[in-house]
Amino acid sequence: CGIVGYIGLPEKSVEHHALDVLVEGLRRLEYRGYDSAGVATVAGGAVEARKKSGKLANLIAEIEQVPLTPASVGIGHTRWATHGGPTDLNAHPHFGDDGRLAVIHNGIIENFAQLRQRLSLAGHVFESQTDTEVAAKLIGEAFQNTGDLTEAMRQAVNDLEGAFTLLVVHPDQPDRVVAARRNSPLVVGLGEGENFLGSDVSGFIDFTREAVELEQDQIVTITAGDVSIINFDGSAAAGKRFHIDWDATA
Ligand code: GLU
Repeated sequence: CGIVGYIGLPEKSVEHHALDVLVEGLRRLEYRGYDSAGVATVAGGAVEARKKSGKLANLIAEIEQVPLTPASVGIGHTRWATHGGPTDLNAHPHFGDDGRLAVIHNGIIENFAQLRQRLSLAGHVFESQTDTEVAAKLIGEAFQNTGDLTEAMRQAVNDLEGAFTLLVVHPDQPDRVVAARRNSPLVVGLGEGENFLGSDVSGFIDFTREAVELEQDQIVTITAGDVSIINFDGSAAAGKRFHIDWDATA
């Protein structure tokens, strides 16, 4: 299972389509094992998603059939199913109630059953059997209330127990990807006019050698020109900067 995120400058989206960066990162992360793959990109005020069970090749074939608009921001996922079978429907991304907030997740949300019950009683409708979709609904609800993806992520993760790397995008804040981690890995790749996220550095090794490792219980917001990190309590934080010097020409 693996996770990647990308944001670049909108004016470069045609020559440097977010999708190409995401697919390359997911290909590099295939060694971790997975049963499904999916992506979400944001362009022209809309989110577009494709997801498929099986190999990355299935997802790529699907995208060839139904192409995505050139985009400068997106997230990509390979899934190792823990809650809900490895079907197209259970593949990530999952969505908030507005159908526009897209979330991907690696890990397990331990208190998902209680959360799902609470959210269902409050009127939220679930499409999948995944634990991930409760996180999508929680972040979605917090985004409705706050209009800010970072704050929405912060409020939601404080309700979650277990292990998670979560990434979220929304077309109302198309200039950023927000990510959080607890007991599950997340690394930021630093580019020039672009930034990256990955489960490990192989998620962006083809594009940069400068990286920042997040610590436990941190949230990172990346834009094309900035990386900003906070703790789950909202206080400012700084990750650990490092240079990747291993050879990855394979
Ligand atoms: N628990 C989530 C699911 O079953 C994420 C699994 C993963 O780490 O890929 O969909």
